[in-house]
Amino acid sequence: MQETIQTLRTRIDALNLQLLEILSERAKVAEEIGELQTQMGTAHYDPVRETEMLEALTQTNPGPFTDATVKSLFKSIFQASMQLEDESDKVKYLTSRGTRGEDTVVYVGDVAIGSNHAPVLVAGPCSIESREQLEAVARFVSERGVTLLRGGAFKPRTDPYSFQGLGVEGLQLGREVCDTYGLKFVSEIMDAADLPAFAEYADMLQIGARNMQNFTLLKAVGRSNKPVLLKRGLSATIEEWVMAAEYLLYEGNPNVVLCERGVRTFEKYTRNTLDVSAVALAKLETHLPVLVDVTHSGGRRDLLVPLTKAGLAVGADGIMIEVHPNPAVALSDNKQQIDFGTFDRYLEETGYHKKLSQKRHEVYGF
Ligand code: PEP
Ligand code: MN
Repeated sequence: MQETIQTLRTRIDALNLQLLEILSERAKVAEEIGELQTQMGTAHYDPVRETEMLEALTQTNPGPFTDATVKSLFKSIFQASMQLEDESDKVKYLTSRGTRGEDTVVYVGDVAIGSNHAPVLVAGPCSIESREQLEAVARFVSERGVTLLRGGAFKPRTDPYSFQGLGVEGLQLGREVCDTYGLKFVSEIMDAADLPAFAEYADMLQIGARNMQNFTLLKAVGRSNKPVLLKRGLSATIEEWVMAAEYLLYEGNPNVVLCERGVRTFEKYTRNTLDVSAVALAKLETHLPVLVDVTHSGGRRDLLVPLTKAGLAVGADGIMIEVHPNPAVALSDNKQQIDFGTFDRYLEETGYHKKLSQKRHEVYGF
């Protein structure tokens, strides 16, 4: 008896393989139909056709399965084919982890951002105000191991009467000062028309929160080959933020770093609410590096250390922070920028002085 069962089982195994072969062949034909339907713009699911197929099957059903069982078995097969067709219709987003499994590392010159590299620190004034001001900051931060200097030359100000930035002159200052101190220069671009100047003077183009969905700007910057720092919009969903990054990649620029800078909520104790889950999610959903801007998110000096720790704890690849020689007289964001003494304490308290010189995985183990 045992022997007969064994023989029958061997037959079952062979039949399983035959079934699998036929099912796979059927799936390929279904995929071909699906592609043609997609090209024609018609739906994959056709209930009339499905009923016809089921009827044809039950009419020739040789048993021993009942008609109901045959229907149910074939419905499962139809459904599996439909899933395949729908799957191949899905857009393969260039930013998605599903499309590219490994972490993207963005190089700003020789500075690597992302994956298992040491978390970077982008430090510098909110606005470039003068050569003296920028030089003082550059000298100070470079001595502490900072490699990326930020400084706005074109400022997106709420009030049109407030300081708008030095424009191209500011970019030129940024370039000169960065070259003197061996720093890379990060600055915000607001208008695609300024791209030639940014191409000449900046190392990394920042797209600010207020321009995150300026699609003309995104397309133009996407066509340049400069690394981009893309801030999350004031009220942008994570999807909108990632889609903005998609524009840049779609246009051909893969060197995109995302930057969470807080979103607008009902809270009044902070300028914005730092969304740490967005940092973690952006790391999970995309393969791009993610930074956290601790200055604009909290809008408070006393939150800079805890927000830095929080950002790095959820996997941020670096931090952006504003530093000014004399914040009290700064022409923008004078409530949030920190002076040199505070910056030194910040480095100490966050452990950044060590992180700047060590590999990230040695510090964090990831
Ligand atoms: C900035 O970093 O200078 C700035 C204006 O930030 P955000 O676009 O995030 O407000
Ligand atoms: Mn600022």
